[in-house]
Amino acid sequence: MKQMKELAGITGNPIAYARRLQETSGKKIIGYMCSYAPEEIIHAAGAHPLRLFGSGRNILLADSHLQSYCCSLVRGVLEDALAGNLNYLTGMIFPHTCDTVQRLSDIWRLNVPEGFHLDIVLPVKLDTADACQYLIDVLHRFRDDLGKALQTKISDDDLRKSITLYNNIRNNLQKVYELRKSNPDLLSGRDVYALVKAAMIMDRESYLTILQAVVGEMQKATGTADNKKNRRKRLILSGGICSQPDIYSLVEDVGAHIAGDDLCTGSRYFAGQISVNGDPITAIAERYVKRVVCPAKHMGNRSRAENLLHLVKDCHADGVIFMLLKFCDPHAFDYPYLKKALDKEGLPCLLLEVEDQPQAQEQMKTRIEAFLETLKTL
Ligand code: SF4
Ligand code: SF4
Repeated sequence: MKQMKELAGITGNPIAYARRLQETSGKKIIGYMCSYAPEEIIHAAGAHPLRLFGSGRNILLADSHLQSYCCSLVRGVLEDALAGNLNYLTGMIFPHTCDTVQRLSDIWRLNVPEGFHLDIVLPVKLDTADACQYLIDVLHRFRDDLGKALQTKISDDDLRKSITLYNNIRNNLQKVYELRKSNPDLLSGRDVYALVKAAMIMDRESYLTILQAVVGEMQKATGTADNKKNRRKRLILSGGICSQPDIYSLVEDVGAHIAGDDLCTGSRYFAGQISVNGDPITAIAERYVKRVVCPAKHMGNRSRAENLLHLVKDCHADGVIFMLLKFCDPHAFDYPYLKKALDKEGLPCLLLEVEDQPQAQEQMKTRIEAFLETLKTL
């Protein structure tokens, strides 16, 4: 598909894209690192929300501030900031999730001189009676703080317009996943990866236009793709961030495909819609408390396993690959219980420990191949 070349270029170098966007549109760019960042509020303020991923450079400067046993995503983003590669950011926001991000927030405030810095102190438990009200209060405060920092007023109407845009993006991404679920040959895994990642990087209006064109082409092509290939083994990717475009190609190269995911840079990013009726801040908060939870937040003892099992069933998947970012404690703590839940249902899984930086593919390919061999014997 012709749109994919453009998206691959953008997702391959988000920093260059964001600099260009700032120069050409004059938009203020606000960085964030987590899918609990309320992008709709940033967009409604007339700014551009940019999800940061490490650029993959060697970690030198960040090592003076963070231990080497912090996840490579956080170390990579701090490295970029300390090297001056993020000096085009007008501000950086830190939703409080895992310990590493909370410490990064402190380190950033003390060591990165450019831009303003805002914390969003989210509730830890999302399933208590008061969690939603607490979150509403926190988001109201964030709206005020952001408005002051950007010297603008964020009206309810602005918020509703942004919510509508984001709902449209979420809805179309959902369509991509649905279309691909029944016919994976409509779009390669690598293209799906670029499509979702671009949603967190690109100017959202321009992105929606491209996304709608992609959905339109997929809908037209439905029914023409090669059905023989669809008998390949179907896998689910589970974890936090997956910044490994190669994993999709590796899985496809060895004769399987990714039928769905439980990633915060995948389906968790676009899950759920936000109501445009009533108070928009309340509506934004309600999506967060209803959305599939990530392990840095708490929502009952079983909700992640229940979601994963549901996903496996819904996608008719044969197995799960856990993409564990090295030293990511929240996901590492959840892995044994998720594996146990899959074992109980006789569903095989593979744990791949990865780094945010590019890594050797051969070893990963061999492990995926071996995993597929075991699936064929079942
Ligand atoms: S896994 Fe959770 S805490 Fe970590 S970046 Fe994703 S949403 Fe945020
Ligand atoms: S990858 Fe894990 S440790 Fe790193 S920021 Fe995300 S949740 Fe925190």
